[in-house]
Amino acid sequence: SKLRVGLLFGGRSGEHEVSISSARAIALALSAEQNASKYEILPFYIQKDGRWLAGEVPQQVLGSGIGHLESQNSTPEEQNHLVSNPQTQTINRWQSPSQVAEVDVWFPILHGPNGEDGTIQGLLTLMQVPFVGSGVLGSAMGMDKIAMKMAFEQAGLPQVKYKALTRAQIWSNPCVFPKLCDEIEETLGYPCFVKPANLGSSVGIAKVRSRQELEAALDNAAGYDRRIIVEAGVVAREVECAVLGNEPAQASVVGEITFDSDFYDYETKYTEGKADLVIPAAIPDAVSRQIQDMALQAFAAVDAAGLARVDFFYVEATGEILINEINTLPGFTATSMYPQLWAHSGISFPELVDRLIQLALERHSQ
Ligand code: ATP
Ligand code: MG
Ligand code: MG
Ligand code: MG
Repeated sequence: SKLRVGLLFGGRSGEHEVSISSARAIALALSAEQNASKYEILPFYIQKDGRWLAGEVPQQVLGSGIGHLESQNSTPEEQNHLVSNPQTQTINRWQSPSQVAEVDVWFPILHGPNGEDGTIQGLLTLMQVPFVGSGVLGSAMGMDKIAMKMAFEQAGLPQVKYKALTRAQIWSNPCVFPKLCDEIEETLGYPCFVKPANLGSSVGIAKVRSRQELEAALDNAAGYDRRIIVEAGVVAREVECAVLGNEPAQASVVGEITFDSDFYDYETKYTEGKADLVIPAAIPDAVSRQIQDMALQAFAAVDAAGLARVDFFYVEATGEILINEINTLPGFTATSMYPQLWAHSGISFPELVDRLIQLALERHSQ
């Protein structure tokens, strides 16, 4: 009989629409000829208010244009602000539909908080059913940019200088705040990047060039997350490597992202034609090999499993390779970097999805 795959998508984060697009592509791949006889899809749609829906509605969301990025009337910034704003984050609306019990293996394709950060992974672990991707630790470490950077540091992976802050330091103490800003200016300088520690798709990230911009960006980032990171800005090419497997995992060819914008912000990521993927990246073989090696080290450093996309800065002038971050549930539409990197490494989209499910089963049985 067919294995029932619980495709879990949507979610309460600012990356809700991205998740729908990813889920759509995965559902298509599971229905492809080579997978259709093996798998049956049970879609579960998590609404923005946190409610889980099974059956008709998720099928419709997967099949229709709902969730298409341009068709949304509120921006992801607004949606995410609503979700993670401390004043509005009150009720836990988790309710499981009865179909949950029928799932043989879960495929959570949720991005950002409540999906990529270990919370869903904890729930699925308690349910004792296999699921695709990293467990609680790997997900949480991979989501929080501060914890992630500490793990990378321990693993000896080179990265930019950074400073970790909390919302309380930014909001609650008018005496501390100017000193914090002084310190950032002295140690990191301009331009620097202010980021909520637990987000993705560049939501809440600002590139700042002055004291005034720094203060505004810190205040804004504190609206998204309790934990905030400020990083020294680098001028570099942006290259990414996909990882697939448990232990040992394998690394894909390296790809580059090119764009004209100031940095790889939300608009550049999701507006058709604003960014190009160059696969394989036009970089020396030795650099590619080093990036692949670093990607596998990063994967192990945070205890990731199944899949991850690891992002790097390549400073061409000096040959320096700096790790930027790991994403344990990367964008998964047909045109996303993660499946594209594997396509260029000889693994088709349907085969990739099949492998990920098999890896979930393998990990569960160990
Ligand atoms: P993703 O969608 O990949 O999960 P994210 O929201 O986790 O992204 P980052 O990858 O940390 O965000 O940063 C987004 C983009 O901002 C980078 O791709 C890069 O263009 C720019 N950027 C971030 N940090 C730096 C830095 N320290 N120096 C230069 N550019 C940076
Ligand atoms: Mg990220
Ligand atoms: Mg991400
Ligand atoms: Mg990134």
